[in-house]
Amino acid sequence: MASIFSKIIKGDIPCYKIAETEDYFAFLDINPLAKGHTLVIPKREEDYIFDLGDEELAGLMSFSKKIAKAIEQVVPCERIGVTVIGLEVPHAHVHLIPINTVRDMDF
Ligand code: 5GP
Repeated sequence: MASIFSKIIKGDIPCYKIAETEDYFAFLDINPLAKGHTLVIPKREEDYIFDLGDEELAGLMSFSKKIAKAIEQVVPCERIGVTVIGLEVPHAHVHLIPINTVRDMDF
């Protein structure tokens, strides 16, 4: 059965798409931890990021780097956090999460 993310790639489930290439796809997380929280995935369905071959993993990270640079242009943040969780959706993905530390907050 196709994963939720494969359905998103096909357009069967709507998403806010950020960018795509022949092999990779980036879109906003539906339940963001911060404004601009983005998921980056390979179009080829594989359960978990470390199930990917080295070449595909490198391609995913290279595409993620480009997306992170683009997010930085539009979302003010100190850093783009990069994380892998993979507990909910069995389709390899990287989370890119704009981070601002407590130093920036108004009290
Ligand atoms: P993980 O598998 O890394 O634990 O979490 C999966 C992530 O995918 C979560 O942050 C969740 O909000 C996001 N997610 C789950 N279903 C959808 C969906 O249908 N659309 C979008 N845009 N994000 C989703």
